[in-house]
Parts: sequence; C-alpha cells; structure tokens
Amino acid sequence: MSVFTAKEFDNHEAVLFFRDEVSGLKAIIAVHDTTLGPALGGTRMWDYKSEEDAITDVLRLSRGMTYKSSLAGVNLGGGKSVIIGDAQKDKSEKLFKAFGCAVERLNGTYIAAEDVGTSVADLEMARKMTSHIAGISEGKCGDPSPATAWGVFNGLKAAVHFRLKKDDLSGLKVAVQGLGHVGFELCRYLKEAGARLVVADIDPNAVTRAIREFGAGAVAVDEIYDAGADVFAPCALGAILNDETISRLTARIIAGSANNQLAEDRHADVLKSRGILYAPDYCINAGGIIVISHEGPDFDRKIAMDQVAGIYKTATNIFERAAREDTSTAQIADKIALERLQKVKAERKYLALAS
Ligand code: NAD
Repeated sequence: MSVFTAKEFDNHEAVLFFRDEVSGLKAIIAVHDTTLGPALGGTRMWDYKSEEDAITDVLRLSRGMTYKSSLAGVNLGGGKSVIIGDAQKDKSEKLFKAFGCAVERLNGTYIAAEDVGTSVADLEMARKMTSHIAGISEGKCGDPSPATAWGVFNGLKAAVHFRLKKDDLSGLKVAVQGLGHVGFELCRYLKEAGARLVVADIDPNAVTRAIREFGAGAVAVDEIYDAGADVFAPCALGAILNDETISRLTARIIAGSANNQLAEDRHADVLKSRGILYAPDYCINAGGIIVISHEGPDFDRKIAMDQVAGIYKTATNIFERAAREDTSTAQIADKIALERLQKVKAERKYLALAS
C-alpha cells in the first residue's frame, strides 16, 4: 500500500515499524502531530487481517488523537500504536517489554497508554523498559475509562439540554451499545440521573450485570438501533453510524464513547438532515486523555474530573456554532480543533522568525 498518499496519512510526522524476533513483536507507532506536546495515544492489540489494515488503523487513530487533544484544550499531540497479534493468545511479558523498548527509542516523542486489546497490567510490563507510559497506577491516574464515562455523561447531558431543552434525564430512554469499561460506568451515571436504560452487548454476562445493577432492559445486539430510545449511546465499535443503521434510529441524540462512530464523513450530514443531534465522538470521549494530561507528582483527581466535566461546555459550543453556521457538528469539531493547532503553529512561526 502507499502510505504517503493514503487519506489517513495526513502529514504524519513519523510512522515507525518495530519487529522483535525473540518476543514475536510486530508493532507500528504513528506520531501524527506534536505541535501541542508529546504525542499521546493508546496501544491497540488486534489480530489484523493484513498489514495494510494495521497501518490504516494506526494512522486514522493517531490523527484522531491530535484532534481530540486539541479540542479538549490539553497540551498533548496525537499518536497511537498497534501491536499486531491476538490479544487472547499472543500476550507475554517479553512481548510488552519489547514494546516498551520500542517506545523508549522515541525518547518521549510518543507516550503509550492502554487501548482495545491491552490492559493496565500489559502497560505496566512495558513500563519496565520505558517511562513513557501514561494511564497506569504508578502515575496515580490509573485506568482512564471512568473519566471517559464521566465526560460522555456530561456531553450527553449537554446534548439533551440543547436538543430537548431538558436539564435532567429522568424518564429519558437511553440505548447503550456496549457495556465494557466505559459503557458500564456510563450506565451507572445514567441510572443515578433517572434515565431508563436499554442495553446490548455481545457478552451475555455484561448484560446480566446491567439488568441486575441498573434494572436495564436488554435487547439483542442487532436490535439496539430499533430500541425506540430518545438517546443512542454507542460505546462499543466504530462505523456504527451508516446508511443501514441511521434510518433505523428513533433517537434524536447520539452521544457515546466509541471512536470513529461515523462510517463516512458524509454520515454527519445525513444525521443533520434527519434532525439527529450528533455529539462528536472525540469531543465527548476525551475524559480519559484529559485526566492523563494531569498525571504527575501533583495529580489531583478532583481537579482533573472537574476539567472533564467541562466537556459539557465544549459540546454546547459545538452545537451552537453548528446551528449558527448551518453545518454538521462533526465539521465544527474539526474546525475548532484545527483552529487551535493552526494558532499555535502560527505563534511558533512568528517566534522563530522574531528570534
Ligand atoms: P471495552 O473493550 O471495555 O468494551 C467494549 C464492549 O463492547 C465490550 O463489553 C464488548 O463485549 C462490547 N461489544 C463488542 N462488540 C459489540 C457489538 N457488536 N454490540 C454490542 N456490544 C459489543 O472498551 P471500552 O474501553 O469500554 O471502550 C469502548 C469504546 O470507547 C471503544 O470504541 C473505545 O475505543 C472508546 N474509547 C474508550 C476510552 C477509554 O477510556 N476506555 C476512551 C476513548 C474512547
């Protein structure tokens, strides 16, 4: 495949391929943009069908991190890494130590964290070889998922306020797709706020827990789009907003944690034309990165979580500007993220010229 001309490449600063024969490590680290700070992004372990799929994924995700951090107002750049392998079968201490060595070679330009297929425990093994790992217990922040759920909850409330003119969620029916680290915690917040829950997960144990703990209604995995909800909260997979699913939704709001929810950019316009308010995924799922950006000796969870709650305001600004400019919320999120990046780049250029 061609990397430089791929749509996802988008002027990446660096894309590095790592191979370690002893451990079997095959990894790619992508550094998209370090204008705002070191490139921080999770390490995904996935059994990709092809190397092309792995490259496309890492580039797309890495670029997404640049936008996410920029929009969230944190001083971090965008990067991501993938380990090619089966997370159920191929994990070993050797593998994650070799991955840690790879991260170390970037000398802090890239900072790894957990992602789909990796856990805090895996990253702790990598941490033995490099200090450039975030979101693990040692840095006091720990698993970022609860912070992500808190951010999604605040973004969802902002969307309800904007579209339904309601400040509380009591009685609203929210369909949650995926009850993993983020989805389950989101259900907890929603339940406490009085929402009625309908849930789906491929893991029947997760569904049973949600029924037991939150009194949630459950539907089959394929039926979550038809659940007749007021709000749809995708917290599992990407590309779930597509031609097939959008026409089935009765929800007037979409607000969930899953990355890359729109199958294609044009689906943002499809949602707008159907009167569905889309809370851009990388805006409202930025809670984890915000908390991670606070890591350090003075880490204060309350201060960090208060900043996460600010996602309410960021999302509201997006909704209001999209309405004013009669465009999609996804386009406005991109615009705001790029505006900050370009401003900092312009300031740097000015300072460089002035010195
Ligand atoms: P997770 O792996 O803990 O949970 C995902 C859940 O989705 C699992 O319970 C899984 O069984 C379920 N699932 C998989 N396929 C499904 C399907 N077809 N229908 C219904 N359920 C299905 O992941 P997570 O950490 O909770 O993250 C969820 C999403 O949020 C992912 O897209 C992730 O990239 C995104 N995200 C997570 C964080 C974070 O801090 N964890 C931050 C930003 C974005």
